[in-house]
Amino acid sequence: MKRKILIIYAGGTIGMQASANGYVPVAGFEQQLRAQLSGPGDAQLPAFEVLELEQLIDSSNLQPHHWTVLGGIIRAHWSQYDGFILLHGTDTMAYTASMLSFMLQGMDKPVIVTGSQIPLAQLRNDARDNLLTSMMFVAAYDIPEVCICFNGRLLRGNRASKLKSSALDAFDSPNYAWLGEAGIHIELHAERLLRHGRSDFNVPDFNPDALVVLPIYPGISAGIVRDLLSRPVVKGVVLHTYGAGNPPDANGELMAELENAVRRGVIIVNVTQCLQGQVSQGAYATGATLNRIGVIPGSDLTLEAAFTKLHFLLATQSADRVKELMLQSLCGEMAE
Ligand code: ASP
Repeated sequence: MKRKILIIYAGGTIGMQASANGYVPVAGFEQQLRAQLSGPGDAQLPAFEVLELEQLIDSSNLQPHHWTVLGGIIRAHWSQYDGFILLHGTDTMAYTASMLSFMLQGMDKPVIVTGSQIPLAQLRNDARDNLLTSMMFVAAYDIPEVCICFNGRLLRGNRASKLKSSALDAFDSPNYAWLGEAGIHIELHAERLLRHGRSDFNVPDFNPDALVVLPIYPGISAGIVRDLLSRPVVKGVVLHTYGAGNPPDANGELMAELENAVRRGVIIVNVTQCLQGQVSQGAYATGATLNRIGVIPGSDLTLEAAFTKLHFLLATQSADRVKELMLQSLCGEMAE
């Protein structure tokens, strides 16, 4: 039987049109989409329905509450469809794909997030291809994962990052091999997929102030870090360090600020600014300082995956459990 999919349109370039101030998302995407997809060969497409969000956004405006809305929509429709395609802006696509992977753990059908660099409304665009390829993957394969499908690549969502701002191959997953590829033929690397387990969906509300990202840079001062971390609302920090997870440990005051935060119960997770490879806290004496302080090494998590995982766990677990689970892979997001 033909599969039936739900296409959720949340905004992003794919459905944008030009305005005096540049591209803006516009309502009425379904009509445009159906017009584009009708023609020879359209019988090969799965049956689909379109759900358009009331407030379409440029995904640069994404807030944590949007994840609750999107996760809630997918959960509410889960049993009615064989798979889901989320049309989303590229700027924060990797954050949303990562967050959905944590919300929908144990899922048994595909959720593919896609979008485009050029709107569907333009004569020359990558929107049609990204959308059709996503539909083909959902129509023909069992993929129990949240993926990003872009420019012929099927990527694990919580391993992907937007690496290019103006090329069509905008996304890659440098720490995990592609799950599939669409060239002349569509190929799925089934051995790289997650096995689905017992579904355990959890779509929490978030406190956007609970988490901060702290990038390490030459000259970062203890005072700045103190100001940032001293607000009691801050419960978690993604520390974005150099190379193998190294901070400037010669700055004793700065390290003391991090240590004080850990003592107050703030959970600090260390991920690397490098695009490939992992944190190895202790490979250098600088990084070993973080072990002593109680900073959690984030393995090879992307910044997006670390941020969304910590947000998700802070919203759903006790502090002790958050620390334990940050060290384990929940849905293929990191090497253990
Ligand atoms: N600013 C746009 C967005 O993220 C970019 C895109 O969709 O490609 O919504």
